[in-house]
Amino acid sequence: MVELAETAERVAATTKKLEKTALVADYLRARPAEEAAISALFLSGRPFPMREETTLNAGGALLWQQIKKISGKSDAQLEAAYRRHGDIGAVSAEVFPDGRPATLNVVEVERAFRQIAGARGVAAKTAALGELLARATRLEAKYLVKIMTGDLRIGLKESLVEGAIARAYGQSSAEVERANMLLGDIAETVRLAAAGRLGEAKMRLFHPLGFMLASPVESAEEALAYFKDPYIEHKYDGIRAQAHVSAGQVRLFSRTRDEITESFPELGEALATLAQEAILDGEIVAWSYPEKGSPQQGRAMPFSALQQRLGRKKVSQELMRQVPVAYLAFDMLYAGGNLLIDRPLAERARLVDELLAAPRSKILGISSCEALGSQSHLAFDPDVQPLAAQLIRAPVYRGSRSEQLDELFMAAKERGNEGLMIKDPNSVYTPGRRGKAWLKMKRELATLDAVVTAVEYGHGKRIGVLSDYTFAVWDGERLVNIGKAYSGLTDAEIAEMTNWFLEHTTADRGLRLDVEPKIVIEVAFNNMMRSGRHNSGYALRFPRIVRLRPDKRPEEADTLARVKDIYERQHRAAS
Ligand code: AMP
Repeated sequence: MVELAETAERVAATTKKLEKTALVADYLRARPAEEAAISALFLSGRPFPMREETTLNAGGALLWQQIKKISGKSDAQLEAAYRRHGDIGAVSAEVFPDGRPATLNVVEVERAFRQIAGARGVAAKTAALGELLARATRLEAKYLVKIMTGDLRIGLKESLVEGAIARAYGQSSAEVERANMLLGDIAETVRLAAAGRLGEAKMRLFHPLGFMLASPVESAEEALAYFKDPYIEHKYDGIRAQAHVSAGQVRLFSRTRDEITESFPELGEALATLAQEAILDGEIVAWSYPEKGSPQQGRAMPFSALQQRLGRKKVSQELMRQVPVAYLAFDMLYAGGNLLIDRPLAERARLVDELLAAPRSKILGISSCEALGSQSHLAFDPDVQPLAAQLIRAPVYRGSRSEQLDELFMAAKERGNEGLMIKDPNSVYTPGRRGKAWLKMKRELATLDAVVTAVEYGHGKRIGVLSDYTFAVWDGERLVNIGKAYSGLTDAEIAEMTNWFLEHTTADRGLRLDVEPKIVIEVAFNNMMRSGRHNSGYALRFPRIVRLRPDKRPEEADTLARVKDIYERQHRAAS
């Protein structure tokens, strides 16, 4: 154990990733396979393999108590040391007795961890923990405690340990990563790598795989620079969940790979009706069901609505009714015995379509499963199907021009979703990696505070009210127009503003009135372009009025310099 602790110290002492990897590789190579396996586990900051879900249940208080006992220090002395280090492992290194011989071996340590985890009752746990720590040197104690608290803080992510394994055993990093991802067990990965048998790693259902992550883009153009004919989905504002389903059994895992099945019993029941063994990737959202008989389909609610449902072990029927949820499935990693992550998204997406459209099995004893059927959008009747949770295939849109993406973005926003996910149909699923095969477009590019210079009468239900605003920014002392937008304001605000504009008209040009430049509005947009349409020399794509800014005086509105700045930033981001 002392060699592991010394290696960890050396790893902490360098910021260079290559050096960190080399240090760990040298250390692993010099050990027998089993010792190396356990060491790799400890060096990734875990006492047990991820897939096991075993926890030590030896919290900070228990550790503190033991450190106090072994060191003979007072609480005040320990607290002072903690304030200096901010890390209970480093505190141990300072206060543990000096000069003990190093006798611990990592394999023994792992056994001791298992004893601590398995000990029933505080007394037994304390005894097991005390026994281990009583044998540790200062440096060993430092790392034992760090591993037990799950935080090494030596700048060694699991991906670097994977790199070190590849290097130590002459295997490719990709193979090591893949095996570790499938096994969820870095110690087992070492055993296979050392024996040259990485290819034998198999996926285990009901153990979470890593989640594929997305990279942000600022604009439709930027997204289309990566690939031409994307799959486009709404970006829902909920929590990511991987659903493992087999023979009526379901487990849901969060992005942190924690199991969250208990918090969403109705989703478990709905997923259990799927016709095939599968691992799905999707988003759990709070779902707003339409009135019964309404042609509307319901919609995802913002994350704040879902919050009440998170982190609960027991969920009452009442809460399930108050905050109904839905699972929007957008990917599939495994189906009917086949791992799908190496297949292109286009193929995986088709399999998601098929699975969700297939008739569901009725293994449930409750009437709710009748409501699930093979349809996704059902009116919700709290009296008849109190727990019917929706499984919905997240709709996929196509569009290869930036205007189409912009329109979809607007539509997503209008439905209350966060924005768009833009995905490469040819891409494989890369668990735990953030790449450019999935792009997320969510933030407004920026908003501008602009001054209304002219207004026009609207159309349709906006006839008779001044609802189209032309707005401007400052170019020195002069206002220059930059865009025109239909008002995104409420009817009451529009009516009130109409009166104000009529009273403050400076020139009446029929349908269009020039008005005193007094009203400040906040404007959002998707993109900024150079254009001769307005005298600022710029125009906005899909401008929309976010709100009135009565708190701002016109002098405080934005300037042409800021517009130029946004334009340049946007183009830098796209290039
Ligand atoms: P962010 O949390 O901003 O990094 O965005 C990525 C997250 O968006 C994912 O982890 C999902 O939870 C969520 N998300 C919402 N809709 C989708 C979708 N259609 N495809 C993939 N991820 C989505």
